[in-house]
Amino acid sequence: MAQLGFGMMRLPVLDENDQTSIDLEHVTKMVDTYMESGFNYFDTAFVYHEGVGESTFKKTVTDRYPRDSFKIATKLPLFVITEESQLEPIFAQQLENCGVDYFDYFMLHNVSGLTENAWKNVDLYSFIEQKKQEGKIKHIGISTHGDAEFLEEILFDHPELEFVLLQINYMDWEDEGIQSKKCWEVARKYNKKIMIMEPYKGGFLADVPEEAEKIMKEYNPDKSVVSWAMRFVANLEDVEVVLTGSSTLEQLESNIHEFKNADPLNDEELEILKDVGEIINSNITVDCTKCRYCVDACTENIDIAKVFDLYNKHQMLEDEDWTPFGNAYLNYSKLPDVGIASDCIECEACIDECPQGINIPDVLKDVAEAFETEVNGFQN
Ligand code: SF4
Ligand code: SF4
Repeated sequence: MAQLGFGMMRLPVLDENDQTSIDLEHVTKMVDTYMESGFNYFDTAFVYHEGVGESTFKKTVTDRYPRDSFKIATKLPLFVITEESQLEPIFAQQLENCGVDYFDYFMLHNVSGLTENAWKNVDLYSFIEQKKQEGKIKHIGISTHGDAEFLEEILFDHPELEFVLLQINYMDWEDEGIQSKKCWEVARKYNKKIMIMEPYKGGFLADVPEEAEKIMKEYNPDKSVVSWAMRFVANLEDVEVVLTGSSTLEQLESNIHEFKNADPLNDEELEILKDVGEIINSNITVDCTKCRYCVDACTENIDIAKVFDLYNKHQMLEDEDWTPFGNAYLNYSKLPDVGIASDCIECEACIDECPQGINIPDVLKDVAEAFETEVNGFQN
């Protein structure tokens, strides 16, 4: 069976408007709880938490545990790579950030149409293979949000890759855009180890609409909503690691519990999940997983992930103009140096960053219309 991985993309922060303000005390407790539970796989990236993700890993894991007691996976930031001369310095920086001499798992981060400047123009594959030969990497792979055809091309061209990190959950399983199932099948066809990200689809599957929860509880009152999502991914064949990106100790403890009790879903339960998926789909307005890849690209400093999250929650409370989420948006708008939805100048710099293919400027117009109203405290 797979092991539960500690994803470090959404760590707790002291100031929710500053992704670098990591709550180190809280993360340290989470790391200790995770290690005590018998798991030891950490996943970070050069770009997480606006560049402090890897050093947070060093402070909370490398500096406190023997090197052979944990495994570390990180990712080469294809988003910023345009030429070969960048590779050595960035890789050396990553080793230093993480405080290690070698990485257990090293990925090209999000190989897809978004990053083609890097993987088309720079020989990234030879670079990571070379690092493996030098003993600086144990296993090489990729993370991708590309579709199955794209994945097949990569795996055909690069037999040296050992694993792939894929977005898999019961909502995206048969989705024609994300193609979780088809990508999983391609990875198996090429005998690759599979790592899973987004098992809760950015939190949507942990907080489902009441109607969906009712169906789940009617079938099995003892199982939590998140347990269904965890049971779906934890029992897929050829999966090595299921990453969850907990933001609190409580979430982490829940994930550990659900993972350890993830018995396989039966056929009836799989059918129920299809109905649940339809209900959730009809309630989600914006398919944003809060990965924040777009946020750095925004020239107007709009915290796109945050305003989409508020908008989704607002939309779930049908037919209400004022909601607590509109109020939270008003509070956000008063922070120094942030842009709001109507500040979007439609430059489209963010669109290519979004792995979910969201037309961000278009959705921001809807957000402005919903939130920037008199009833929510904005002057027209
Ligand atoms: S299109 Fe709008 S949201 Fe996107 S980067 Fe430009 S200003 Fe920011
Ligand atoms: S809009 Fe897209 S890129 Fe931005 S946080 Fe959401 S899913 Fe990520």
